[in-house]
Amino acid sequence: MSAPLLEVRDLKMHFPVKSGFFSRTKARNFAVDGVNLSINPGETLGLVGESGCGKSTLGRCISRLYQPTAGEILFKDANLAGMSHRQLLPYRQNIQMIFQDPMESLNARHTVGEILEEPFLIHGIGNAQTRRQSVSKLLDTVGLPGRSASRYPFEFSGGQRQRIGIARAIALKPELIICDEPVSALDVSIQSQILNLLMELQKEFNLAYLFIAHDLAVVKHISDRVAIMYLGKIVEQASSNEIYHRPFHPYTQSLISAIPIPDPHHSATRILLKGDVPSPISPPPGCAFHTRCPKASESCQRDVPILKTVAPEHIAACHFAEAP
Ligand code: SF4
Repeated sequence: MSAPLLEVRDLKMHFPVKSGFFSRTKARNFAVDGVNLSINPGETLGLVGESGCGKSTLGRCISRLYQPTAGEILFKDANLAGMSHRQLLPYRQNIQMIFQDPMESLNARHTVGEILEEPFLIHGIGNAQTRRQSVSKLLDTVGLPGRSASRYPFEFSGGQRQRIGIARAIALKPELIICDEPVSALDVSIQSQILNLLMELQKEFNLAYLFIAHDLAVVKHISDRVAIMYLGKIVEQASSNEIYHRPFHPYTQSLISAIPIPDPHHSATRILLKGDVPSPISPPPGCAFHTRCPKASESCQRDVPILKTVAPEHIAACHFAEAP
């Protein structure tokens, strides 16, 4: 197997929570708290969890929109975690992001042509003529007509805007794209078009994706492997097929039980969790999931479960997840 393209080691993002007249740090938000993961070239790792579990923060740390508190982000063996903005510039070409709401990430006052030309200008690539050609090729690649270049983002539908966001992300031929809930705001029929486009581009350009979503059904469609995140930590990780058919962690089991089954003769029992995700400012002691876990015992309130191998290439953090 080839060396990982990306390796994240013990990554932490602890935001200070400030209050009072002097804006003193009163507490810490443990948004990402010791995450390890890797992504191979051309692979898709799905990252799933409820809102507020830290998955988008993790994506933003990896793309270095945030400066992580601790840990390593090894991209082709260079550690991006401690790099300055200047040192990061050559790597920014190689790691791009696609956001949930393209309207927020696309400059509304610029035409699509200007938006797509911008990455080339920032990195000093080509001249006016070659940049125009690149923009027209990008529009064609994502299935938009060439005349889109002279129009503004507000003139497009949500799905078309996401295509513009994808075109911008692939402009500099990156090797890794962080897809942060790229289809969550779209209609179901448009979702599958965007997912298919992402999969076609992956094949064509050997792209690796970190695909962030709260919906396991969406992630299943596109991922080779899936990592489940809860309150700043990865609690289970395995191949896509394995995790859907043999989830070990009670949290993963509850997420999978919520996926609708398109078969009227098959009824699945939904595992409903109590309450909401606790605050990452004061995570529960022991297993952070114990306040909602249907299988929690007394020891779960005290002892922190560590990620252990429960099957080949399958890890889970639960005291009672045992290898068969
Ligand atoms: Fe549930 Fe305990 Fe396992 Fe945590 S360690 S997931 S609380 S059974």
